Amino acid sequence: MKENFITLSEPTLTGDELESVTQTLREGWVSTFGPTVERFETALKERLGVSHAVGVSNGSSGLHAALLACDVGADAAVLMPTITFAAPANAIRYVGAHPIFIDVSPETWHIDIAKTEKFLKEECEVKGETTFQRKTGRPIKALLLVHILGLCCDIEPLLKLARQFHLKVIEDACEGLGVLYRGKAVGTFGDVGIFSFNGNKIITAGAGGVVVSDNPEIAARIRHLTTQAKSDPIEYIHDTIGFNYRLSNLHAAVGLAQLKHLDTFISKRRSIWEFYREHLEKISGVTMMPVSNDCTPTCWLSTVLLPDSVTLEKRVALVQKLNREGIGVRPIWHPLHSLKPFAEETAYNVHFADALYRRSVSLPSSSHLTRLDLKRVTDAFQTFL
Ligand SMILES: *Cc1c(COP(=O)(O)O)cnc(C)c1O
Repeated sequence: MKENFITLSEPTLTGDELESVTQTLREGWVSTFGPTVERFETALKERLGVSHAVGVSNGSSGLHAALLACDVGADAAVLMPTITFAAPANAIRYVGAHPIFIDVSPETWHIDIAKTEKFLKEECEVKGETTFQRKTGRPIKALLLVHILGLCCDIEPLLKLARQFHLKVIEDACEGLGVLYRGKAVGTFGDVGIFSFNGNKIITAGAGGVVVSDNPEIAARIRHLTTQAKSDPIEYIHDTIGFNYRLSNLHAAVGLAQLKHLDTFISKRRSIWEFYREHLEKISGVTMMPVSNDCTPTCWLSTVLLPDSVTLEKRVALVQKLNREGIGVRPIWHPLHSLKPFAEETAYNVHFADALYRRSVSLPSSSHLTRLDLKRVTDAFQTFL
């Protein structure tokens, strides 16, 4: 960590991690098999209110396994928003399937529901129990929702659309641990949900993730695929291509200690969002990211929207200047549909995504930031604008 540099989002270590790791070392089960992973999985199940949880090596491997467990294979297609971190789109490509990028809505910054519906009704056709994209002939197997920034998408109408068009629902909740939609944890609405414990997330395990489901078959498939698909571990009988995607007990020990502080971290990050709102919305045309009435957010990353008149050059200059001054701000992610690895994929009705990329800046949001840190951010921001 650089002296005086305020990073975008870094771990808040509490001291409990050391004790937890020490206990795991004493027990001797340090690798992927053993009781600490089980304890962490149980704690997550209780916290999220879900019946199955499988620890995995990270959120990206969890997404890969989730797609396989939902039978998304080569030459299938998956609907997803174009504004998100690239990991879910990469995972779709790992299985040989293709993302179809849908625009995000100005009201929610999440997948645009009206455009998703219009795409399914006008660009697809249903034959029997399968929906096909007319242009490519590919079957659309899943709707991959991504809950970004510690907010959530409007899940209910999306679940309804998915049912109507026979799509599995995969929730990338890597940024959404602790977020509630109508009082229930995000990641537990679809067929399967994925969380990450990477160092920049609201809690960390050093590295790691968890895949959750209320469907016992899907959960069993995830456990099987992420444990090398062994059907007889003694005779080394494998029944399909498997992966070593398991979480280690040492990582689970860190995650278990962090999880106990989740509520503190959530209230801290929400107060950071409040502080930014209070100070930055005074600037004409500036608004904070939208929080819908159905969502109880964690505000994992506080992101601000600049006035529509701001050019891309000006936003880039703002981000560069603040970083030079030791303030780790970032734009929201580059729209995926216009990145090289996804240039050949379908992008549907994308308009707001480009404006969001041009106008948004994510601000330092770590759970241990002080008022002085926050003041430094808002002062620098105000000076520039
Ligand atoms: C962080 C993140 C991931 C990937 O998680 P890792 O644990 O870093 O592999 C996936 N999707 C989203 C939306 C993320 O923010």
